[in-house]
Amino acid sequence: MESVTLKDTAKETKKDTLIEIKNLKKYFEVERDLIQKLSSRTKRYVKAVDGVTFDIKRGEVFGLVGESGSGKTTTGRLIINIISPTEGSVLFDGVDLTKLSKRELKHFRRRMQVIFQDPYASLNPRMKIGKTLMQPLEIHKIGTPREREEKALELLGKVGLTPPEIIFTKYPHQLSGGQRQRVVIARALILNPDFVLADEPVAMADVSMRVLLLELMMDMKKEFNLTYLFITHDLATAKYVCDRVAIMYLGKIMELGPLRDVFQNPLHYYTKALLAAIPIPDPDHKRKVDIPKGEIPNPIDPPAGCRFHPRCPYKMDICEKVEPQLQMIEEGHYVACHMY
Ligand code: SF4
Repeated sequence: MESVTLKDTAKETKKDTLIEIKNLKKYFEVERDLIQKLSSRTKRYVKAVDGVTFDIKRGEVFGLVGESGSGKTTTGRLIINIISPTEGSVLFDGVDLTKLSKRELKHFRRRMQVIFQDPYASLNPRMKIGKTLMQPLEIHKIGTPREREEKALELLGKVGLTPPEIIFTKYPHQLSGGQRQRVVIARALILNPDFVLADEPVAMADVSMRVLLLELMMDMKKEFNLTYLFITHDLATAKYVCDRVAIMYLGKIMELGPLRDVFQNPLHYYTKALLAAIPIPDPDHKRKVDIPKGEIPNPIDPPAGCRFHPRCPYKMDICEKVEPQLQMIEEGHYVACHMY
């Protein structure tokens, strides 16, 4: 029997990884008027994502959670290369997407699809549902017109839009919000992708519809063997679907780990506060952790040291001066905080 070496284990780990993000940064230049340009030569930047490193394993649902302005959506857009990073790399199946030409990227785009938050904005109001679904196949020159139609009808059935032949002929405004999001899910799947970025996919749906859409996404994950990056501001939604989660704050990851560990043993005060903010339907329930006071600081000029220090009740002297790095506290569970 062959013995397994450390090298083999490393290879195995890489084989398990679909996406590796290393030190990813995105700075957006702040627009200045003429007077500002004349009075100062220094350009200013919004540091939307500021040195983020993590990986996404094949077949998992990785959650990126944070308030608005935390950089989670920008991170998602960098991963699927809708925008280019200021620094850092995104490896998809071992290939650095940031180094590819537009033509080379086209092949990878087919393997990566997106479900956006607002189904109405992401569907062309003048295009019938059938055409919307067949368009990606046309762009990638896949199948005959008849085969494309059959594929579109098949997917409409799979996402629960029946009868498919009727839905095929409708315009987006003739469907309900939940039905439109099902169309968006079907469109994301029509090219048979490996990876789907779901950016707040149920945030605009009614509460009753949310669970059904999440169940549909999980059914589709099994059927299509998908890997998801699930972006949400809501830890309660993340709990429903994610295998691992990363908590983002002001362009940085504060905590990362398996969902169960982060929920049962949150390490960062910010994670504890997010968990405490999940509503409990009990009028006598008392929160164990206070919600951090104040707003998320300005990403143009983020606080020195730990970015969370202006809102942290446990702030120490070191917190204002030295930036804490993510460190592993227990197997696969990381935190960026000087308390550990
Ligand atoms: Fe609070 Fe300091 Fe930890 Fe930041 S590093 S979360 S300020 S204790």
